[in-house]
Amino acid sequence: MAQCNVDYYGRHDSIGAAADFITAPEISQMFGELLGAWVIARWHAMDAPTPFQLIELGPGKGTLMADMLRVLRNHADIYAAVRIHLVETSPKLHATQKETLQDFTPPVTWHDNLQTVPPAPFILIANEFLDALPIQQFIYTLADWQERGVRRDGEKLTWATRDINNDALPDTRHLPAPVPGNILEHCPALPDILQSISTRLTVHSGAALLIDYGYARTDYGDTFQAVARHQYANPLENPGEQDLTAHVNFAVIENFGKIQGQKTPLKIWGHIGQGEFLINLGLQLRAEKLLANAATPEDKMEIIEAAHRLTHPSEMGSLFKVICLSSSDLPPPEGFK
Ligand code: SAH
Repeated sequence: MAQCNVDYYGRHDSIGAAADFITAPEISQMFGELLGAWVIARWHAMDAPTPFQLIELGPGKGTLMADMLRVLRNHADIYAAVRIHLVETSPKLHATQKETLQDFTPPVTWHDNLQTVPPAPFILIANEFLDALPIQQFIYTLADWQERGVRRDGEKLTWATRDINNDALPDTRHLPAPVPGNILEHCPALPDILQSISTRLTVHSGAALLIDYGYARTDYGDTFQAVARHQYANPLENPGEQDLTAHVNFAVIENFGKIQGQKTPLKIWGHIGQGEFLINLGLQLRAEKLLANAATPEDKMEIIEAAHRLTHPSEMGSLFKVICLSSSDLPPPEGFK
């Protein structure tokens, strides 16, 4: 999964209406603008550290960062204080981000991973980043759990299993006894990223906002999926030619917060649905403002449709969830009321 995605993101125009899949910032500028307002509010809650880092994990085409920076640019103090750090592994998207952000003056630094971002007061944003991280799957066979993987069979990839050789099997004590065929998932990189954020919070003030599609508690199920040209595809076909993802287990993030929060000055807010979060941040007002300025009926329709898509429970409103890891001494982050 890791190898395929490095190859895929490195060579393909993955994100956008004419590409393989679409994300919230590509649906509407409102998404990034509201997050820009969120960043400003958090920065003030942190006592306006100058300078501070605005870190984005997996910034895609740079659209979300550009929309946030357009909002920040209206406030001279924060615009002068912000240092942008983009964590991106794809050289192709790196080039796109550079182009998207060329008209903004704050300095931008690129990193292959979060570890090389120097410690400093920070606000971190990650939208649809965690779902791209490789997962492990475990399948219950006749009487025990095995790790599920892929094997090369000539030119084809096929499913295979092997004995579990690590202790990564998720805690299932709250679930009914497994039956053959049940699948469990584990994302090994997720605890590392959470740990890295938490370590940062022990030294500096900060907040991390993670947004993704996912589930609220550990459960049996196979969420490994491939998407190409806006359609689901067989994940074992066309390796490196389609986007491979898995749903994010928000229970893992919440549990991390509960356990880690006792040792470090860290607090978790949420998760809540993306719809509720964006409405709490004022999506309705922003949409009305844009509607009042829209030139044509088509433009108006586009705004209404985008607001619906981002917030309605049958669209991205509840499958997509928002969670915030924050320094424990900061007031509640906006949007989580
Ligand atoms: N946040 C963007 C893009 C989401 S797609 C948006 O909302 O539109 C996932 C992004 O994460 C891409 O930029 C991809 O290149 C990047 N990515 C995937 N795996 C990564 C990894 N292990 N480390 C850093 N970036 C990664």
